[in-house]
Amino acid sequence: MKPTILIVEDEKPISDFLCAKLEASGYRVIPVFTGQEALSLAASHCPDLILLDLGLSDIDGMEVLGQLRGWTTLPVIIVSARQAEEEIVTALDRGANDYVTKPFSNSVLMARVRTALRPATSRLSDPARPVQFFDGGKLCIDHEKRLILLDNQPVHLTPAEHKILMLLAQNAGKVITYTALRKELWGPYAGDNRTLRVNMANLRRKIESNPADPRYILTEVGVGYRMIENGGDAAI
Ligand code: CA
Repeated sequence: MKPTILIVEDEKPISDFLCAKLEASGYRVIPVFTGQEALSLAASHCPDLILLDLGLSDIDGMEVLGQLRGWTTLPVIIVSARQAEEEIVTALDRGANDYVTKPFSNSVLMARVRTALRPATSRLSDPARPVQFFDGGKLCIDHEKRLILLDNQPVHLTPAEHKILMLLAQNAGKVITYTALRKELWGPYAGDNRTLRVNMANLRRKIESNPADPRYILTEVGVGYRMIENGGDAAI
């Protein structure tokens, strides 16, 4: 059965664009234009995913998100204005799964939707796959053996670098906020973004051929980090 996507967007042209693109990619879409409709249809139609514009005319999108998260964990991708990092971070920390900014490219939108529809792990650090390959096998992450191979050569990481890479790889394709990463890394002592940045710089030096233009771990400015989607899981 086709996955159903509830599209919550009050601007008709944007809603039409989203519906057309998603339908062309094989999804069933239900467009709604208000937060109120979103809440009632989310409950009655059990969509597989919600695309939620934060700037709605009746209820604030953030409020819609809050109400949804009161009873459901179904994936929510927020649609936000560009350069609204604070709003994006707030929504992610309140349980949104990912975000796209307007105007969005078709490929980014589809990648976000695909990733969000992937069965979720209950916690950031749940090992979903024992071995992952990225970039056609150039980078191999063996979660069970705790081994990182780059061009078949082992990469030596500090425990913090290792954990950052594991967390991002297990959530490949999905943005992880700085706050969420810090919490996973340092628990209640959550460190600060500077410590995280230093660790990230060191990690990139070890796995990226050009750390200034990373290909494995992308920076989402003001929001967090996103590891590229892997090309497929190992058969092991
Ligand atoms: Ca809007």
